[in-house]
Amino acid sequence: MDLSTFRTAPCPHCDRPVLTARDLVDEDLRDRCVHCDHLFDPEEISWAAPDEVLAMGYFIEGFDSQPSSERGCKGGTCGVRQPAN
Ligand SMILES: [Zn+2]
Repeated sequence: MDLSTFRTAPCPHCDRPVLTARDLVDEDLRDRCVHCDHLFDPEEISWAAPDEVLAMGYFIEGFDSQPSSERGCKGGTCGVRQPAN
């Protein structure tokens, strides 16, 4: 397994490709959307290289292929929910 790839899947709720997080469901390791907890089927999971993950709007700690001004949550592309004012 290449540690420089990330598990991703198309989330029907977030309406875009998202990173997934492993979760134990009924004794099985399954993947959930990191944003809305949607449970993916194993065949929905694909592996993305750091470049692809950055293109999806995520920031990867220690992987810096863009000028610093282009990083962060500008436009909410990283999917982090900001507190409502
Ligand atoms: Zn989602």
